[in-house]
Amino acid sequence: MSSNGKQNGKNKEKNSEKVESSELFWADKVAQQIITREKFHYTDDKIPKQSEYVVKSGTSLSGVLHIGRISDIIRSDSVVTALKDAGVKATALWTADSMDPLRKVPAGIPADYEQYIGVPVTDIPDPAGEYESYGARHLAEYMEVIDQFLVNKLEKHSMREEYKKGAFVKYIKIIMENAEEVRQIHNKYRTTPHKKGWSPWNPICENCGKLMTAKVSEIIDGKVLYKCQDYEFESSTAKGCGHKGENDPAKGNGKLVWKAEWACQWAVWNVSCEGAGKEYQVPNSAWWVNAEIVERVLKHPMPVPFFYEHLMIDGVKMSASLGNVVYPRDWLEVASPELLRLLYNKRLMMSRSFSWKDLPVLYSEWDSLLRIYNGEIKMTNEKELSHNKRLLEISKMGKLDAPLELSFSHAAMVAQLYQNDEDSIACLKKSKHYSKKHHEQIVSLLHKAKFWLEKYATDDDKYVVQTAVPSDLKLSKGQKEALHDVASLLERKEWDEKELHQEFYNVCTKHGIKNTEFFQAAYKVLLNKERGPKLAAFLLLLGNERVVPLLREV
Ligand SMILES: [Zn+2]
Repeated sequence: MSSNGKQNGKNKEKNSEKVESSELFWADKVAQQIITREKFHYTDDKIPKQSEYVVKSGTSLSGVLHIGRISDIIRSDSVVTALKDAGVKATALWTADSMDPLRKVPAGIPADYEQYIGVPVTDIPDPAGEYESYGARHLAEYMEVIDQFLVNKLEKHSMREEYKKGAFVKYIKIIMENAEEVRQIHNKYRTTPHKKGWSPWNPICENCGKLMTAKVSEIIDGKVLYKCQDYEFESSTAKGCGHKGENDPAKGNGKLVWKAEWACQWAVWNVSCEGAGKEYQVPNSAWWVNAEIVERVLKHPMPVPFFYEHLMIDGVKMSASLGNVVYPRDWLEVASPELLRLLYNKRLMMSRSFSWKDLPVLYSEWDSLLRIYNGEIKMTNEKELSHNKRLLEISKMGKLDAPLELSFSHAAMVAQLYQNDEDSIACLKKSKHYSKKHHEQIVSLLHKAKFWLEKYATDDDKYVVQTAVPSDLKLSKGQKEALHDVASLLERKEWDEKELHQEFYNVCTKHGIKNTEFFQAAYKVLLNKERGPKLAAFLLLLGNERVVPLLREV
């Protein structure tokens, strides 16, 4: 009995520790793990003291570089900030995994690119002939914008270059010398084991330049003998040319298999942390195979991992064939980099779907965080308060400014009522949503809102102000009189939004109609719709000249 009691007490203690550490913001928690760990994961080796920590991310260049691909880099950036805030030195490092072979011909690329299936993307010509290679095209576009989303300087490396300049030779040699141990580690996680003599090095066929087709038959003195033959990808085949040859891995014309290359990257750059999609969390994933290889074969501690959920658009995966791909430049047309950082930093493992129609919600979340931060919005729950503050600190990119008086939703409303900036600004001045100090931010927000309306908003968010009352409109006596009253009220004085909103209820009471009946009648008359933006603000925006005659006409 008593020993059981003790046991429970111990567990309780452990649990409360767990709760406490999980209350830390996720990036701070990862930073703590990085700083405080002492031993390797698979062996008893001690981790040497470090003066600086490297947080790595990487992007394969074989697919489309959409905003989902930045999630990795943004979250790594957050861990670097958390490490620096914890008082240690930290660097963000990124690799373009540019040795990846083309697996299928994407939409929009000439069909004869089928001949390049199996060729590393950095060795395939650019379809438009503007860039050095197909891979370089993807990369250039991406690199142009990527820094705009980051706080910390990102050290960038291309794997094709690293192999060519020999940065990996030392570790390639260790891997090849220990090919048998690497094979055994792989086989622990595989259902169909690699046979004896399997090679962790994939040579590039010197005749046709393809990567996956050069099948290794033997390893002799660290060199590999190969024959070039067909290789099956998931949905395509890389054609082999039949060439037989010999390849010296130390010369770098080839690539380590991914479940050895990742380990070498960690060792070469002394990586302390790397994030990966949640599919890597399972025990037989490439993450853990590499983790075991880096520790047992390369004698380097595995990085601290963090796993995250992928971003979906309207509940489905982004893909070029579905046409729902969001590129970083698309994002910047309608929102700031900080908002994408907020989206990614909120939680790691909650399934997250983004919908363009909800962009105003993300904007207002940011504004709320600013108001929580400066105390304008009070939060009684201390944990929630500190979580929100930290979320903002980690997601922000510059100095924190007070939120604008103008919300994105309001800007979207103004942007569709007025055709140019001057008229929009004049209107915002009148409604006190303008300040000279924030002129540039306000104009930029108006432009973004306009862009969002044109490209992404649903019909619910769009409206056309009527110039005459719709001819088929039928209203009750009470509804008509209420609208006439509002017309008279508007002419009586200059209202502010709150005051006017309050008056609507008085009018409803006076004429014995329900609030919903009143609002519906107003939206029908003004927009020929059942619903619309906040009515008081909307009426003030439109101005009496447009509103009063319409209301009187019913
Ligand atoms: Zn070949």
